[in-house]
Amino acid sequence: MTRPLIGVLALQGDVREHVHALHDSGADAIGIRRREELEKVDGLVIPGGESTTMSKLLDIFELYEPLRDRLADGLPAYGSCAGMILLASEILDTRADAKHLYGVDMTVRRNAFGRQVDSFEADLDFEGITGDPVRAVFIRAPWVERVGEDVEVLARVPETGGEADGRIVAVRQGSVLATSFHPEVTGDRRVHELFVDLVRAH
Ligand code: GLN
Repeated sequence: MTRPLIGVLALQGDVREHVHALHDSGADAIGIRRREELEKVDGLVIPGGESTTMSKLLDIFELYEPLRDRLADGLPAYGSCAGMILLASEILDTRADAKHLYGVDMTVRRNAFGRQVDSFEADLDFEGITGDPVRAVFIRAPWVERVGEDVEVLARVPETGGEADGRIVAVRQGSVLATSFHPEVTGDRRVHELFVDLVRAH
């Protein structure tokens, strides 16, 4: 599998940016709106957007169960921001009817960084990515409050004396990757390359 085929869930959110980032990272990429499209991909990206809206759209497009089943069968996946929220096994501060996909054994808190610091950027040390730190763009982002035993923490908010110091913002469990932030907007392709490597290795 030299160029794997990776789907980007295309119900809502920043789909195009992920398609470009995946192309640049050595994969073919297509938007996914239907079950038949989901069946043919080697991996899936769930983009940023609004997790409760995406949860509703998953139902309307009859994709929730097929997607949950493919994840349970080991489909490699990468969720960014709202995508991270959807991949969680538990969500705090969401709507009672919001669904999630159990892709990673973790508890995430939605909009965790609060109103004052709605959006911000930080340079992160990212496990498995060498060279310069990763510039992370956070937009009404979640953080991870609990991870299960099989989950590897890949990045935390650096210590700057703020309330968010040390919060977990990137994780991996097997072939499923999740980040609180949006690497698709910076032009740095190393997070997407890491995911494409996970898909190839799977
Ligand atoms: N706050 C959004 C949510 O709850 C996520 C924001 C994002 O994806 N940039 O889904």
